Amino acid sequence: MIPDRRPTRRVYVGAVPLGDGTPITVQSMTNTDTRDVTATLSQVRALRAAGAAIVRVGVPDMESARSLRAICAQSPVPVVADIHFDHRLALASLEAGVAKVRLNPGNLSEGGAQQVVEAAARRGVPIRVGANSGSLPKDIRRDLGTGPEALAEAALGQIRILERADFEDIVVSVKASDVTTTVRANEILAEKTDYPLHLGITEAGTPRRGTIRSSVGIGYLLGRGIGDTVRVSLTADPVLEVEAGLEILRAWNLAPGGLRIISCPTCARCRVDLLPVAQGVEDALEGVEGNLTVAIMGCEVNGPGEARAADVGLCCGRGGGVLVKRGRILRRVAEEDMIAELVDLVHRVLEEDAGNRDA
Ligand code: SF4
Repeated sequence: MIPDRRPTRRVYVGAVPLGDGTPITVQSMTNTDTRDVTATLSQVRALRAAGAAIVRVGVPDMESARSLRAICAQSPVPVVADIHFDHRLALASLEAGVAKVRLNPGNLSEGGAQQVVEAAARRGVPIRVGANSGSLPKDIRRDLGTGPEALAEAALGQIRILERADFEDIVVSVKASDVTTTVRANEILAEKTDYPLHLGITEAGTPRRGTIRSSVGIGYLLGRGIGDTVRVSLTADPVLEVEAGLEILRAWNLAPGGLRIISCPTCARCRVDLLPVAQGVEDALEGVEGNLTVAIMGCEVNGPGEARAADVGLCCGRGGGVLVKRGRILRRVAEEDMIAELVDLVHRVLEEDAGNRDA
């Protein structure tokens, strides 16, 4: 089952659509020095290889903005410029060819904001506006505090500025490090706007905690049909952010093309060290596209039954295991061949399915 999606407008980040029922994308942000084109491009490529559809880069100064020309020209994915207070950096980034700009027009001078909006409109480049709990405007903090209503109102205020300038190519995000605040703020926005929403829990933390916190917050919203693109923020290699984001999408069957690999928690019936087997299968199938669920189970007694919902399975026993295809046991395989045999079976089933679709 796939959650029903909230209807939104459609926005294009380069060739990548956001919203309006188009596939939910995973994005990340580089943590290299943007002035270092080689290092930044290398990280952009790594993020793309991990499954990122869009990559954001920080633009803290003019030299970074100038580097964007080479980065955008060679990037395999649309590049988003992250700008804070200087409209000249936004103009230079647009000039360099970015596919989206993340900034709040309310943080720029009125004239500067107008120039950015005009330049973005001319190029068909969307603007992401939003609010973080750590950087709410003073008047909003005074009137509404720092809760979800304040976050949503801050984002709505930025939207109104763009709409007054006749600019509606907008993506919105509201993020707090508190999951409940983020969830509620996004629910308010989902009621009040129909722009695509970018989901994330900000400053989520180290890989383990941050992934869990993001999964709870982003996952809850996606399950309610809210959200059009996601970024998991981790204090870690951003490739981990992309992997976590994709896994959250897979949990809701929202990641088209990705294999779903599941494995049992093991119990007293398990007679093999299942983790290396499951990890080996995961590694061997990394990057393989296809709509299949692959199960790796710890015993041959309950495994086939528990893996019934999977398309392809390996149920391990002492010294080997049995291969299962759509509920049917195929044959026994030796322990040393288990991973290779399962991977081979996955490829064969993918080919068969493709053949059946073409027939
Ligand atoms: S598949 Fe077997 S080993 Fe795994 S949890 Fe179930 S009974 Fe235990």
